[in-house]
Amino acid sequence: MLTQLRGWAEELGFSQIGVAGVDLAGAEPGLAAWLQAGHHGTMDYMARHGSKRARPAELVPRTVSVITARMAYLPRSTGDAWQAIEWQRLAVPSAATVSLYARGRDYHKVLRARLQVLADRLAAEIGPFGHRVFTDSAPVLEVELAARSGIGWRGKHTLALSRDAGSMFFLGELFVDFALPPTPAVEAHCGSCSACIDVCPTQAIVAPYRLDARRCISYLTIEHEGPIPLELRPLIGNRIYGCDDCQLVCPWNKYAQRAALPDFDSREALAEPTLLQLWAWSEAEFLQRTQGSAIRRIGYLRWQRNLAVALGNALRASGDAAIRTALQTRRDGAPSLVQEHIDWALAQA
Ligand code: SF4
Ligand code: SF4
Repeated sequence: MLTQLRGWAEELGFSQIGVAGVDLAGAEPGLAAWLQAGHHGTMDYMARHGSKRARPAELVPRTVSVITARMAYLPRSTGDAWQAIEWQRLAVPSAATVSLYARGRDYHKVLRARLQVLADRLAAEIGPFGHRVFTDSAPVLEVELAARSGIGWRGKHTLALSRDAGSMFFLGELFVDFALPPTPAVEAHCGSCSACIDVCPTQAIVAPYRLDARRCISYLTIEHEGPIPLELRPLIGNRIYGCDDCQLVCPWNKYAQRAALPDFDSREALAEPTLLQLWAWSEAEFLQRTQGSAIRRIGYLRWQRNLAVALGNALRASGDAAIRTALQTRRDGAPSLVQEHIDWALAQA
């Protein structure tokens, strides 16, 4: 059955699938320690699901196996020098950097829909079965399931990582109520490398395999709702949505795969944007241009907050009068959260 599943998954744009059992007891102490240390920041939903996160059968009763899947997301046109291009963009203060995975269509929609098609094909073959589809879902220990089923190993940056594909892929899961033989885990290959830990702009990887989300730019620009801590703002540079640094530096990402689907190709507005171009968007433009994109999920308020931080960093670097004027123009009438970040930005030069 697995061979057939693999064939369907490939047709649907997945890069690999595996099977994990539901006993993740070994992951519980690490999860508890991470929550205990408060490293999940304000992501209360992480704590709320408690032991269910490590017990798939509690989350979805009668789950016996988990079919795991990964889908490569580098835009199809990505050239060999993509990492160098991303580093160059990060070094230009007036440019805006959006995480590579978010430049195309919202992956939640793409993966969920395609995992559902996979389930439907399987049901047509073996008859109806109980199942639930997940992708990037808080109650699911995705990387743990991926690692156990041989999709990759858990890198020191805490993401799943594969020798054939680096880490530039999305994960998804299909919880099913029938038993499938688990696929074996792969060996870890981080070895003595610590490049991701060393490169992290905010030192958010506090130890190998341990991320303090409260310091992570991905968390701060996407998940975090309130003001961005003052001491971290200068370190965010021009990253306005997510951060790829720990992946850009990873030696395994020279094997990163291109997406099989057109869905993750960069939208024109997000391919080479400048901060000032994006700052000029009204809320209506933001909603229209991010329709069907994961970026829309953060809303206009966080979008403006993030841009204000990046513009402050650009102003400090360049002293560009156009940035000052653009910030001042938007100040009056802005929500207080944005106003405070504008004031911070204006004080940078
Ligand atoms: S995403 Fe960026 S901020 Fe977060 S751990 Fe990786 S390098 Fe650090
Ligand atoms: S950068 Fe090095 S330590 Fe970090 S995930 Fe990649 S191989 Fe592992």
